[in-house]
This record gives sequence, structure tokens and C-alpha cells, in this order.
Amino acid sequence: MSKFWKPGTERPRSSLIDDEEGGVLFVSASASSSGFGYSTLERQRQRLPVFKYRTAILYLVENHATTIIVGETGSGKTTQIPQFLKEAGWAEGGRIIACTQPRRLAVQSVSARVAEEMGVKLGEEVGYTIRFEDVTNPGVTMIKFLTDGVLLREMMDDPLLTKYSVIMVDEAHERSISTDILLGLLKKIQRRRPELRLIISSATIEARSMSNFFHDRKRNQGDAANDSAPNTVPAILSVEGKGFTVEIYYLEEPCSSYLQAAVDTVLSIHDKEPVGDILVFLTGQDDIDAAVQLINENAQDHRSHSSGLLVLPLYSGLSRSDQDLIFAPTPKGKRKVVISTNIAETSLTLDGVVYVVDSGFSKQRFYNPITDIENLVVAPISKASARQRAGRAGRVRPGKCFRLYTEEYFMKEMSAEAIPEMQRSNLVGSVIQLKSLGIDNILGFDWPASPPPESMVRALEVLYSLGVLDEDAKLTSPTGFQVAEIPLDPMISKMILSANTYECTEEIIIIAAVLSMQSIWVSARGVQKEFDEAKLRFAAAEGDHVTYLNVYKGFIQSGKSSQWCYKNYINYHAMKKVVDIREQLSKLLKRFGMSLKSCERDTQKLRKAIVAGFFANSCHLEAYSQNGMYKTIRHSQEVFIHPSSVLFRVNPKWVIYHSLVSTDKHYMRNVMAIDPDWLIEAAPHFYQHKRPNLSAPF
Ligand code: ADP
Ligand code: MG
Repeated sequence: MSKFWKPGTERPRSSLIDDEEGGVLFVSASASSSGFGYSTLERQRQRLPVFKYRTAILYLVENHATTIIVGETGSGKTTQIPQFLKEAGWAEGGRIIACTQPRRLAVQSVSARVAEEMGVKLGEEVGYTIRFEDVTNPGVTMIKFLTDGVLLREMMDDPLLTKYSVIMVDEAHERSISTDILLGLLKKIQRRRPELRLIISSATIEARSMSNFFHDRKRNQGDAANDSAPNTVPAILSVEGKGFTVEIYYLEEPCSSYLQAAVDTVLSIHDKEPVGDILVFLTGQDDIDAAVQLINENAQDHRSHSSGLLVLPLYSGLSRSDQDLIFAPTPKGKRKVVISTNIAETSLTLDGVVYVVDSGFSKQRFYNPITDIENLVVAPISKASARQRAGRAGRVRPGKCFRLYTEEYFMKEMSAEAIPEMQRSNLVGSVIQLKSLGIDNILGFDWPASPPPESMVRALEVLYSLGVLDEDAKLTSPTGFQVAEIPLDPMISKMILSANTYECTEEIIIIAAVLSMQSIWVSARGVQKEFDEAKLRFAAAEGDHVTYLNVYKGFIQSGKSSQWCYKNYINYHAMKKVVDIREQLSKLLKRFGMSLKSCERDTQKLRKAIVAGFFANSCHLEAYSQNGMYKTIRHSQEVFIHPSSVLFRVNPKWVIYHSLVSTDKHYMRNVMAIDPDWLIEAAPHFYQHKRPNLSAPF
């Protein structure tokens, strides 16, 4: 159970640990003032635990190549440390301080907060970059927040990341695949750029193993001839938080639906507990939207609930104004209920939360290299995550955490830590990224945690069949290099490039833009019939991809009207993004010397281009299946068409899909009917040994 410092007892002493070999100093944690006005924001800043460590942090960064900072969520690491660095001069002379995050929403939210604290306009001194969205001003931006994936991409143009003076790799405990690759590459860069400083920060981390990873024994320690060379022994600083006690409650009996249990728990907290906001952890947009609706309906049914509840969803893809609502102070007499994915676990801190409801689940990526199937699965979280979630209740005063599972389950079933994403992901994207950075021996790469060799082999196989790698596992020219340059999944990138051959780039970049959104539909809960009717207006017999073209056309014809989107159950925010991404992809194609061409009504060209990217995801309908069961061609995995697809219940004999999600079954999302001959045309070597299968009679 979580142990927190209690107000009224003596605060745990700050501690500074150093590597035993370093023999390094102890810096006392003393408060220091940055000496600016007395605005409330400034006072809020000074109250954050990390503020007392300002001098210590600056000292360590000055003197060590790498500093590892561990501190409880909400202690101010992300928002404050970049500002400390800027105040200390690390952004002088045109240099930039970078802070990476695994999640896009966190990048946007945190940069907005820092700009506000500094009293500057976002995109000027403080900016951010996420895929397809660059809100920085070169020459002016001093602090830049970005996803770890974007920083990796920047290495393609500037392998040594020369514009950065300090790179803070934040949320390192999440062990996202891009974070791990980034850590491996930054270690290499450090050898070439001794002046570069790294900060690895996280909520909980095996600091010692991270320190060992960065302790480069090959490097000349304390080079006497070079005063400016920092100590290569990483420093470790732990920031003591000031969390309050959180009482943990477990279910006595397991529940059958965490969604219903979450809704009931929120309503009962609202009934029985004193004021204080509620934070609920569910898994994704679907169950979050459902919960928001159920709570609102229930609140209307019961007079006692009817006033006072302000229910807000929190997941990636929210618009700016929805994000602002989350952080806005709770109106008087109201109780805010935020229903979130695990983004609120450590990336974002909501002040005012006193009650946490933890479903015990999150959406996680899983990959099986044998079947080559990667999907998002709603899976149990780890004990470490459960503790983090509980901790969110103790921000402002003692809180309560309601776990929607039994204590026995927590003790016996939940794993201690989550598995790094690297070890449960398809590595196609990572391999191509490393190859494009000139790292040829990928198995020999210095990973913080090695990926499974089978996953690596699968990735090489797929990239070879896509024509991205040649027989020596080198990037092909131009296809391989171009695929690497397009900031999308390699299968989508290959589809885009093939569209040049099939003369349908105009259409394909629209499809590519839609596929890179989570969904362009709004939630249909409670209005299923109206929703299905709306969808029918756009539905194409070919499947979802062509349907998206119809939606896009309608959106443009409506003059990009939000009203039109509302009427058709289409997410306006997502459509605006699609227009934007389409524009950027069109520029990219021009750079490759390709012009936009339309296939007009010849959807066969278009579908062949899609198959050229997605041939590996092909399936056929089981001849005797009553329930629409398909099997993947490559590994005979059982899969089904997702109910959100326009081909649901249509069940064409042959289909390809874009991605899989799994709940009770494996469901294909974004499905298109194909002619099996196109598979052999697209990837002869890939399907050769499967040829007999392809002509099986149905
Ligand atoms: P850490 O990185 O250590 O988890 P942060 O720097 O993210 O901590 O948060 C420090 C404080 O800043 C928290 O109290 C948090 O509520 C506040 N904060 C962060 N982002 C925002 C925002 N967008 N709006 C309002 N407050 C914010
Ligand atoms: Mg943070």
C-alpha cells in the first residue's frame, strides 16, 4: 500500500545519492528565489517540491553529463526544471532546452502551462512540436517540449542534435519504445558532444540501472586537460514529494463490469463523501465516453445527483478547449469528475483531486512475433501503476482510492512492473528509424532493454517484403529512404509511395491522413440507429477507406462546417486535423518530386495502392463461418470485422485491415474488400508459398 508523508509529521529529508565511484558531493537542498514578482503563479511555482532543489539540480546538471531525477508526480519536474535551466542560462546563444514526453497531449498541455507561467505566448520563447504540428519559432524558442518520437525524427536531419544544450527525457519510467531508442542514441551522441547535458526524469524508476546504462566507462573520466568536460558518472537526485495519505479501498468481490462499477462508485462518492474532485481511470475513448454518458444520465434520474456534477473526459485527441476545462478550477458548489486514460497517471497532474477510482485496466500494446499480430488490448495494469493512480488522490489533502478489484487480486495477480513497450511491440517502425540513422547492426545496438530477437526478425522480414530494405538489410533507394522520411507507419508510407505508380496520390493522402487519426466518428452510444443511418450516407461497397474519401468530400463541400459534422456524427476536430495532415503530406510528396494525381472514380487503382502497403494484413472469410469469422492469410489467426466498420455484417470474402483491437475477440478496424490476386502482385515473395491457399474455393 502506498505510504505518503503526512502533514504534521516531520517531512522526509531530501536525499542526494551519488554513484559510488563518483565520490561526488552532497548538495543541501536549499530554497532559493528566482526573484521575480509575487504573482500567484509565481507563488504556486515556489510551493512545488522541486523548487527547493533548484540549486542542487542546476549544480548537478552543470557538473554531470547525465542527471537522473526521480520525483513523485506533481512535484514540478516537467514544468519547472526547463524553466530553472533557462533562468540559469542554458538557452543563451541560440541554444535550446528540450523536454521530451511520450504522449502528445502531455506535450501540448505542459508547454501551454509553462508559457503561461513565464508570461509568454505559446510558440515563442516556449514552444512545442508533435507530429504534424510545430508550434515553435526558430531563433526565439528557448524551451521546447516535444514527443520522444519527434526528437528521434529530428536526428535524421541533425544526427548530433546540435541545437540543444540540455535534453530532458521525461517520463522515462514509462519505457515507451521511442524513449528507449532515444536513450540508446543519446548515449552515443554524448560521446561526440561532451557539452550536451542529459536529464532523465521520471516518477518511479530503477535509477540505479538507468545510471549504470549511462555510466560510460570507456570515456575518459574527469579529463584533466579539459576543464569543461563534465563528470561522466551520472548523478541521481530524488525529489521528495509532499503527498498526503491515501486510504485504499478494495472491492470485496470481483465486479463483472468495471465500467458499471466505476459509474456506481462515482455516484456513491458524490452521495456520501465531502467535497473534492474525482479522478476515474478507465482505458480509452470508448469506455470513457460511455461512462461520461452513464453518469450524466444517472445524475438526471436522481434528483440528489442532479446538481453539482461536472463530468469531463480526458484522452488524447481532445481539443484545446476541452483540455482547458480539465485544468480550470472547479466552479463553486460543483464537483469535477475527470474520466481519463492512464495519461493522468503520471503525465498530467490535476489539482483538486481527492478521490481516485481505479478500474485496474489500461489499453496496452501487445505483439506476438509468432503470429506477427500487434494489437491494443485492455489489460490489467501493474502494481506500480496502481500505486501511482492511488497517489493522485493525495495532492491537496488526504484522499481515498477506490480500487475496482479485490485486495487478493492486487496482491497475487498484478505484476510488479509493466513490461517495457519495446518488448511487446511490432518493431517495424523502430528498425526503419535506426536504419535511417545509419545504425546497421540493430541487434548490437546499446538498448536499455533488448527487444526480443524474434520481433526483430519479423520486422526485417516485413520491411524486406515492403521493398524498404534490400537483401543486405540496407535501406533501398529511393523507396526505403522515402518511407523513412514520411512520419507515418511504414505500411502507410509504402501505400502513399505506391499511389504514385497507381496514379491516385490525391486520394491516398486523404486516406493516410484519416488512418492516422484514432477515429473520425463521434461516439454513437445511445444513438446507434441515427449513427448507422448517418454512416450509410457515406458508406462505400469497397469498405472503410473509400468511405473516408466520401466523408472528406462532404466535409470540404460543406465549407468545412462544424454544423455539418455535428449532423453526421463526425468529429469536427479530427476532420480539421485530417485537412492539415493531408496538406503536409502533399508538400512532402512534392519534395520527393511527385505530383498529386487523381484516379477519379477508378477505385481499383486506389485499392491496389492500399494493398501495396497492407498486403501483410490480409484475411479471408472462413467458408463455413456463421458468425463472420476470418482467418489471416499468414498465420491463420481468427479475426472479425469490427462493428464500427461499414463492412460489418457485409463480410466480403477477402479483406485487408489497417489495425486490430482485441476485447473478447480480435477485431479488424478499417477494413477493405480486395481481390486476392492483388496480394501476389503486391508482394510475390511474401505470398509465394501461400499460393495454393489463395486459390482455395469459397
Ligand atoms: P511533475 O512533472 O513532477 O509530475 P508537473 O511539473 O507536471 O509535475 O506539475 C506541477 C504542477 O503544475 C502541478 O501542480 C500541476 O497541477 C500544475 N500544472 C501542470 N500543467 C498544468 C496545466 N496545463 N494547467 C494548470 N496546472 C498545471
Ligand atoms: Mg511530469
